[in-house]
Amino acid sequence: MTRIVDVGGHAPYRIAIGDGLLSDGAALASHVRGRHAMIVSDAHVTPLYARGVADALQAANPGLRCMVTCIPAGESAKSLDRFAELLRELADFGATRDACVFALGGGVVGDLAGFAAACWMRGIDCVQLPTTLLAMVDSSVGGKTAVDLPQGKNLVGAFHLPRAVFADTATLRTLPDRELRAGLAEVVKYGAIRDAAFLDWIETHADALLARDADTLAEAIARSCAHKAAIVERDPFERGERALLNFGHTFAHAIETEQGYGGLNHGEAVAVGMVCAARLSARLGMAVADDTQRLAALLRRLGLPVDVPAGLDPAALVAHMRLDKKAIAGRLRFVLWSGAGAAQVVPDVAEAEALAALG
Ligand code: NAD
Ligand code: ZN
Repeated sequence: MTRIVDVGGHAPYRIAIGDGLLSDGAALASHVRGRHAMIVSDAHVTPLYARGVADALQAANPGLRCMVTCIPAGESAKSLDRFAELLRELADFGATRDACVFALGGGVVGDLAGFAAACWMRGIDCVQLPTTLLAMVDSSVGGKTAVDLPQGKNLVGAFHLPRAVFADTATLRTLPDRELRAGLAEVVKYGAIRDAAFLDWIETHADALLARDADTLAEAIARSCAHKAAIVERDPFERGERALLNFGHTFAHAIETEQGYGGLNHGEAVAVGMVCAARLSARLGMAVADDTQRLAALLRRLGLPVDVPAGLDPAALVAHMRLDKKAIAGRLRFVLWSGAGAAQVVPDVAEAEALAALG
């Protein structure tokens, strides 16, 4: 069964979620307007799935010129250097304005390839083919693309909506456990910020999710995508409501930056960040300590960390938070929690409170 989530707005597109979608060459090729398709993937995903996608595209459209380009795996590939390299490859490939980029991989590939598609000839089509749970529930939807700088995550980027998203759940079978759990952190986020019933459902289905029960995972992905779609179609450029998706992320990005992108992965950092944000909310009287306990217990059960890694300097973390894109005029701005299913942006939090929330 293929689940569909439609994303409305000025350039609507469809998210398809199901087993085997990457072999549906006709569906994939239907989004290519010209003769060039560049499949961007990383060193882990390329040998597993890239040939299959290229062959499926080619079989559906024999006139298509397909190339596969492989980037190193990991966050460090989300760099300006790799971005420039992709643009040079598009040039060498002879990609014209009707070329299509297929981003086959996790959020790193999706963000980098999406940003290259956003900039090449001022914007060409991009189809997202997410292969991590995190990319399926979050990064492939909504059009945010970016690369990192040593000074901070996602500091250079563009909004560039995908033409389509195909989440082939069969690819999750090869995903390492740690990456599966990272994706579950973002799934929990949707329940936490806007759907108390979904948070209950995740608690009930935690074991099935960890055991990779196909139907349970597909349902979690579809429900998460429906939340993300509802938010991004109303607020595509993050002028308001979309900021709620950053619950836990101000803390998370500070941790990731301070660790030089080589410690906790994004989902793990988000798990820690959500617990810090919940603790901060309780300190400021918005949530109660019981909510924080419940959130931390669920994340722990899903195999996720909930404590700030030892040895990180709290003052350095707060300094990173001030450079976060969500910060305005150097003030500390957080998405805070009012308990299951409700969150809001709080624009000016005292540094002492943020420090105390680090635990
Ligand atoms: P990732 O892309 O690094 O993938 C995680 C690891 O899993 C990598 O080693 C990758 O090679 C491997 N992998 C991917 N699919 C696999 C598969 N099917 N089988 C085996 N191995 C596989 O990390 P991620 O967690 O997917 O994405 C994190 C990135 O996404 C971060 O850079 C984050 O900033 C970004 N992000 C962006 C948005 C957005 O809206 N654009 C939202 C959330 C996160
Ligand atoms: Zn995230």
